[in-house]
Amino acid sequence: MLNTSWIELDQTALNKNIRYLKKRIGDATFLSVIKGNAYGHGIEQYIPLAEKAGLHNFAVYDAFEASRVLQVKAADTQLVIMGMLDDDQMDWAVENDVAFFVFTPHRLEAAISSARKLKKKAQIHLELETGMHRTGLEENELPDVIANIKKNSRYISVNGVCTHLAGAESISNYVRVKTQSQVFEKLKKLLKSKGIVPAHYHSACSAAALIYPDTIMNMVRFGIAQYGFWPSMETKMHNLLSEESKFTRDPLKTVLSWKTRIMSIKSVEKGNFINYGVSYLCVKPMRLATIPVGYHHGYSKSLGSSGHVLIHGKRAEVVGSINMNMFLVDISHIPSAQCGDEVVLIGKQGELSITVASFAELTKVINYELLSRLPQQIPRIVI
Ligand SMILES: *Cc1c(COP(=O)(O)O)cnc(C)c1O
Repeated sequence: MLNTSWIELDQTALNKNIRYLKKRIGDATFLSVIKGNAYGHGIEQYIPLAEKAGLHNFAVYDAFEASRVLQVKAADTQLVIMGMLDDDQMDWAVENDVAFFVFTPHRLEAAISSARKLKKKAQIHLELETGMHRTGLEENELPDVIANIKKNSRYISVNGVCTHLAGAESISNYVRVKTQSQVFEKLKKLLKSKGIVPAHYHSACSAAALIYPDTIMNMVRFGIAQYGFWPSMETKMHNLLSEESKFTRDPLKTVLSWKTRIMSIKSVEKGNFINYGVSYLCVKPMRLATIPVGYHHGYSKSLGSSGHVLIHGKRAEVVGSINMNMFLVDISHIPSAQCGDEVVLIGKQGELSITVASFAELTKVINYELLSRLPQQIPRIVI
């Protein structure tokens, strides 16, 4: 391996998460959201892992991510693009049986013309505006959209009707989420009365599925939870405390660990500044280890003098700033530590663990951002 750090993916942890989440949604279909390079886990490594865990439906953001899935997926695995699909990528999507969300009348038009040209049905999910005001077909656009679908039923297969809820992970959005669900029910009925009855209705992301069971319908778009993270502390507490889903141990296990090795070690006398500038003064003699990972590799600059890593099962504090490619940790209390020893940036070592959540609280970057920004070039290894 030529990289300075690596990411390990734990098949056992993933199997447990999938089993738990499937139990929570009953017969509904599990649509695994793998945008953002599978939340940093790596699309190419994650797909086979997830297929082994029993998942066969995936959702990506764009055509590029979809093309990467096509390279590695099993033949019967289904794929949907939730976001960007340019007109000039439409033929490619239809040709490759990649389904996609339709949230503008224009995209429906583009789908029909590609399907007509290729003599092949376009697989679509109608995304409805229910109150997030980001993407989604407006109610007043539906009559024309319905008419267009009916007229071109030879070219269009409506696999799903869906919407996205604007922040189910926080109680502050309760009224908004509830109102969205009501609007969705109304529009579902409207479509049904016009003969548009898809195989799947879906509105829930992780937080919605785990807090509002009514949003589960017969498909759930699980993102963050499958990787072993609660969407928010609130979601975790709600589930920890609620009667029906009481648990004593966290049922979600972190799938990803991020590891590296000590690059060099040096001792510094009391009274010296370390690293750039005058931000960190040694007030005692210190033994420092250099860690060959920096903000270039996704280790946030804001962890300077505040983050921790694990070495020999002990916590070692980041001292001084995070540089582009390295940082220093205090190993004065770990005398046996040597060059080349394993360092855990995220994950477990011995009894201790560094969770992305604790990491994230420090950086004020939520799980989602930190994970999805882990650089693609860090190798992902399945364990
Ligand atoms: C990202 C995303 C999800 C998954 O959200 P999680 O909170 O990670 O479960 C679901 N639906 C859409 C449209 C998304 O963009």
